[in-house]
Amino acid sequence: MTVSPNVRPSELVAKTSAIATEVAARHAVDVDAKSRFPTETITALKAAGLLSAAVPREFGGAGAGMRELGAQCAALAQGCGSSGMVLAMHHIQVACIARHGKNSPYFARYLRENLVEKQQLIASITSENGTFGDTRSSICAVAVDGDAMSLDKDATTVSYGAHADAQLVTCRRAADASASDQVLVLFEAGQYSLTQTTTWDTLGMRGTCSPGAKFSGRGRAEQILPGSFADSSAQTMVPYSHILWSALWSGIAADAIGRAAEFVRGAARRNPGTVPANATHLARANAELQAMRNNWQACANEFDAMTAADDRAAREELGGMAWALKMNQLKMTSSEMAPRLCHEALQIIGILGYKNDSPLSIGRHYRDVLSAALMISNERIAGKSASMLLVLKDI
Ligand SMILES: Cc1cc2nc3c(=O)[nH]c(=O)nc-3n(C[C@H](O)[C@H](O)[C@H](O)COP(=O)(O)OP(=O)(O)OC[C@H]3O[C@@H](n4cnc5c(N)ncnc54)[C@H](O)[C@@H]3O)c2cc1C
Repeated sequence: MTVSPNVRPSELVAKTSAIATEVAARHAVDVDAKSRFPTETITALKAAGLLSAAVPREFGGAGAGMRELGAQCAALAQGCGSSGMVLAMHHIQVACIARHGKNSPYFARYLRENLVEKQQLIASITSENGTFGDTRSSICAVAVDGDAMSLDKDATTVSYGAHADAQLVTCRRAADASASDQVLVLFEAGQYSLTQTTTWDTLGMRGTCSPGAKFSGRGRAEQILPGSFADSSAQTMVPYSHILWSALWSGIAADAIGRAAEFVRGAARRNPGTVPANATHLARANAELQAMRNNWQACANEFDAMTAADDRAAREELGGMAWALKMNQLKMTSSEMAPRLCHEALQIIGILGYKNDSPLSIGRHYRDVLSAALMISNERIAGKSASMLLVLKDI
């Protein structure tokens, strides 16, 4: 494997686009049909050194900002939505480690050796049986005994857990801590077992391979990410999740609208000199796609500007209510816009979009983005926004 971790941010998107077209898109139908991990795509990303895009340059990574990472995830999702989601979820975990653990010798070594040199893949375990989709509360607790620690967790959904090299897990700080007094703990391969408890036969995002699993891990206390999950969630996990997810959902929608455009152009070629009737429908859908892209890109730009100086003011702003509300609103609108755009593409293409075996099929795109509103329930998010709007005067 040729690993070139020092890929420059400007090259990231072009290299990822090439993998999206040459690898991800070629295997997307099979990945979806068999509900299997997109091995070929992740192997290609590793070989190109693209899994360390979010690792800061000081540790040998590409040091890409949110805008670049979003463009990378969107590009990959145009070829295969599940691959785009795997990449986004990996970057979210890497960002948590890079932004909150870089001053720890253990995490600094992990960034350099495991993430850059070995191009390893990290999965996330935030869900837990009994917490009902609320990432900010845990039942399980890490048990620290001197230099050692251990954790057991019953997770409802673990994406690509069986294919990852490490798991970043949320839990309570100690057995006597409250449900929201959480930390993130990293477990490397060989330090844990994952026993699958449920299946992953879903409508969409089938290649993320996300069944429920019982996790059991043993490691060293230094593998607990410094600080609280309250901070790493607000300052990193939530913004990276909502911006990168929105970006990849826009990539899936863009491929659906692209298929609709191909259909309309075909109709125009068959009747030279005329504008097909569904061309105006396409024009409206494309305008919505632009709004969707602009929304995540504006948030990404704002995040990059805020975090350019890794200072207290930026951390306070990221932890503030106005930013939290903005992230909630981005996630809600993007997750609702993506299925709407796939629906529009289907109306434009008609039966050729409805057929699963047609080159203009919209089925996988539509099914994939139906997960967006559930992936942290929009109702749950709206409830939190509603509480904020009761007190936030400067809207
Ligand atoms: C493709 C995909 C990949 C995923 N990958 C992972 C992963 O890798 N790791 C991981 O840990 N998790 C993962 N998840 C799980 C995800 O993060 C959520 O935990 C999970 O989707 C929420 O499950 P739920 O719908 O049962 O929970 P809930 O959020 O509890 O929702 C259940 C129902 O309750 C309603 N509800 C909940 N709260 C409120 C409220 N306040 N007001 C009104 N209604 C409310 C919801 O609208 C919904 O109808 C993944 C999910 C998906 C779809």
